[in-house]
Amino acid sequence: MVKLVTLLAADGPRGAVLNLDEQVVFDLGELLHGTANASPVQVHDVVSRWDEAVVSLRRMQARPAKFDARSLLAPIPTPRRDVICVGRNYREHAAEFARSGFDASHGSADDNVPSHPVLFTKLPEAVIGPNATIESHASLTSSLDYEAELAVIVGKGGRGVSRADAAEHVWGYTIINDVTARDLQRDHKQWFLGKSLDTFCPMGPYAVTADEVDADDLRVRSWVNDELRQNASTRDLIFSVPELIETLSAGISLLPADIIATGTPAGVGIGFSPPRYLKPGDRVRVEVSGLGALENVVGPANAHAKWAAQERRDE
Ligand code: MG
Repeated sequence: MVKLVTLLAADGPRGAVLNLDEQVVFDLGELLHGTANASPVQVHDVVSRWDEAVVSLRRMQARPAKFDARSLLAPIPTPRRDVICVGRNYREHAAEFARSGFDASHGSADDNVPSHPVLFTKLPEAVIGPNATIESHASLTSSLDYEAELAVIVGKGGRGVSRADAAEHVWGYTIINDVTARDLQRDHKQWFLGKSLDTFCPMGPYAVTADEVDADDLRVRSWVNDELRQNASTRDLIFSVPELIETLSAGISLLPADIIATGTPAGVGIGFSPPRYLKPGDRVRVEVSGLGALENVVGPANAHAKWAAQERRDE
């Protein structure tokens, strides 16, 4: 298993490889270019050239070095395309969502288990890293909610990928918190707006290669201020990762480093009666077994959170 991170250096974001002690052992620039002080290389570039990177990894000598945790960004801080998301992909969550009255995407509370995957996207600029602030957007929403999710990182792109071949196209995994403004999700009928506000896509802390990760049985959990809210296994997914890849790739070419968030288990804020929405100062922690912990605090806008959007505008 290889763990990749993105660190904010003086010259911008740089991808790096971590060891089990959470120390940087290789800079991705050095890994691909073979020289120290090479220009920065991003995680999405390495994902698409992974065979080459693995050869260098085996050949190079690790030099463990500590890093400042405050420099940790999302592993893919500015995805090249929207983050692809799956709605209502755990039975118990589908039921709590239907009961909540916030789901404008289907007719009645008794057809809450979808017959086909429910798909939507989040804007790349919504991505923030570990410890960055989730903006409360208090003037726009009064029903801010969290969603702990396993996210797939595509390696080899392709179209018409069968579920039997899907594993060959998975580079690895990360964690996503699919932050949602429930009132916008309901009022605008289509989910894009309520899911894509700035800072609504915390991601990380690592991108982890698929070997040694059994995506069919990972524990997905979330806490708000240390209170456990969500706790389920990816065994309970209605549509598995291979089924999702088959459906998506049937007519859309998947590209290297595409990200697919697989849906959230029961226990989100609207699942409670009365609902328990996020408020400024709340700390949300998401863990998926083997993938680390992603923690973010809700608050006003801050410079670090805005960084991803700024970098993209400058490209
Ligand atoms: Mg979701």
